[in-house]
Amino acid sequence: MLSRLYPRLIQQVYAVNASPLSRFSSKWTGRESLESEDPEILRIIKNEKDRQLRGLELIASENFCSRAAIEAMSSCLTNKYSEGYPGQRYYGGTENVDELELLCQKRALEAFHLNPDEWGVNVQPYSGSPANFAAYTAVLKPHDRIMGLDLPDGGHLTHGFMTDAKRISSTSIYFESMPYRLNPSTGYIDMDALENSAKLFRPRMIIAGASAYSRLIDYKRMREIADQHGAYVLSDMAHISGLVATQLVPSPFEHSDIVTTTTHKTLRGPRAGIIFFRKGVRSVHKKTGKETMYDLESRINFAVFPSLQGGPHNPAIAAIAVALKQSMEPFFKEYQIQTLKNAATMASELTARGYNLVSGGTDNHLVLVDLRPKGIDGARTEKVLELASVTVNKNSVPGDKSALMPGGLRLGAPALTSRDFVEEDFVKVVDFLDKGVEIAIEAKKKTKKLADFKSFIETNPETVEKISNLRNEVEKFARSFPMPGFEDH
Ligand SMILES: *Cc1c(COP(=O)(O)O)cnc(C)c1O
Repeated sequence: MLSRLYPRLIQQVYAVNASPLSRFSSKWTGRESLESEDPEILRIIKNEKDRQLRGLELIASENFCSRAAIEAMSSCLTNKYSEGYPGQRYYGGTENVDELELLCQKRALEAFHLNPDEWGVNVQPYSGSPANFAAYTAVLKPHDRIMGLDLPDGGHLTHGFMTDAKRISSTSIYFESMPYRLNPSTGYIDMDALENSAKLFRPRMIIAGASAYSRLIDYKRMREIADQHGAYVLSDMAHISGLVATQLVPSPFEHSDIVTTTTHKTLRGPRAGIIFFRKGVRSVHKKTGKETMYDLESRINFAVFPSLQGGPHNPAIAAIAVALKQSMEPFFKEYQIQTLKNAATMASELTARGYNLVSGGTDNHLVLVDLRPKGIDGARTEKVLELASVTVNKNSVPGDKSALMPGGLRLGAPALTSRDFVEEDFVKVVDFLDKGVEIAIEAKKKTKKLADFKSFIETNPETVEKISNLRNEVEKFARSFPMPGFEDH
């Protein structure tokens, strides 16, 4: 019957079985290399590698992951399902990934100098944003009130971002968000204003952390303000976790209930997220001496799985573990120290060339340049620099009217420091930046709208030549430095 309906299929099955040599040759066993299987994708990856090699990467949230961590990422661990936690999985065959996840947890606590009696950790979040949403899900009810640094002031989307017209981040859709801001005259977080609005808003959670802020955060004061309202302090150290691990900036742990981080920024691991949570005694009643215990461990673990996620990404967990091991080696502290020196060099060189920095300088791995006094904006400058193989991102600065045309740039040192750039190299980097800004200022004078500007810099012969000269210089310089990862992909 079957052979009458599917004669060709039956023939093929017999043909395969008939020849012992072809028994395992079928493509579905998936042993072909990417090169032979999908050269189109390999070409894109190689082009991306080349872009990374010949360019100057100044995006403050980016870094170059080590070869060892990338190897762990691209391993057979991607095949394994392991919903649940070590020892309590919903799948069989988890003995190796159990060992992996426990080791990763242990390293995470060690890397951040935490006592396992006081802190626990969840290494399953897929990235920083899901980590934050899981932490909120764990301790907040829908419509509970949160306060985070506003996005245009340097906060992250997931800290409750919304505009007058729209609730943008889910963290403002499911929770009620009241931002705090920078003091526009100093460029520092306005803690007094935060304290005053917290008195009115009575938050359930205050989020301490930023994506575009070049100063240190006063966690102690955050804690004091939160305590006035019985609120949680969640510190999101995504940008600075490499600096925290090496104890080069103040640690948020002492004053926080929950600490979240990405693992791919200064920590230099794979794209993923981690949540640390307090264990043990939360508070002692002043009169009765009765202890209230933290219940964060079960809540956070439950929020990550099963509330928000399914199977953990085991390759990412392996690569996080590799990055955490590296973060405890002496070279990593040297690397972070050099990152700070390089950011400081960028700040002083820019200032010497007449640029204005938000807050006047930096205490960490990034600087925020206010380009408005130069008569140019971040959007136009970013475009010119991109054509010259310098990658930066436009960023709003205090007092900006339009979010689409922000007046500043965010510049970070972590990625190029991974390529062994030192201070004198960053002097050169600032030189290139300055040339790009000059080209942007000239081009702006000859055009009106942003769209005119974009076509002008790609078609006006004189400008095209200037940009191409700059790009040649930039690429020659960038290519002369080593690059973490594999040789060509
Ligand atoms: C980058 C970042 C995140 C989110 O990370 P993703 O991995 O991009 O989701 C969260 N918080 C802060 C402060 C960040 O800078």
